[in-house]
Amino acid sequence: MIIMNGQMSKGQNFTSIQVDWANMQKVFLKDTLQLTGMEVSLNRLPPGEGSHFRHKHKQNEELFIIVKGSGQLQVDGKIIDVREGTSIRVAPDGVRAIRNNSSEDLYYICIQAKEGSLTAYTKTDGIITDKTVEW
Ligand code: ZN
Repeated sequence: MIIMNGQMSKGQNFTSIQVDWANMQKVFLKDTLQLTGMEVSLNRLPPGEGSHFRHKHKQNEELFIIVKGSGQLQVDGKIIDVREGTSIRVAPDGVRAIRNNSSEDLYYICIQAKEGSLTAYTKTDGIITDKTVEW
């Protein structure tokens, strides 16, 4: 289910959205923010809810970042307990599902990107400008 309830903001080199995370279940950001190298979803799973099917991907790896709450991620039948602070990378071929088996909402971010596509990052891609920071 996709629930968009956010305020959008846009500039020459940025696009942002504010969502009411506590009152939505899933928001995909690729189209909303015009992402070109990844898909990102913001997710809230209420207690007792979870994936309705197991899935895998053709070419994208996924990174699950648990932001708040706890639950379980299943990869190839192996069940992994997750909680706030857990980050899990799942390879494209990993058959996965997630559930919230706790009594509190589970908040997580899922980022998917093409496996092997990252060729430069942080120090090899970042360029420090000569502009000082002013607010
Ligand atoms: Zn997926």
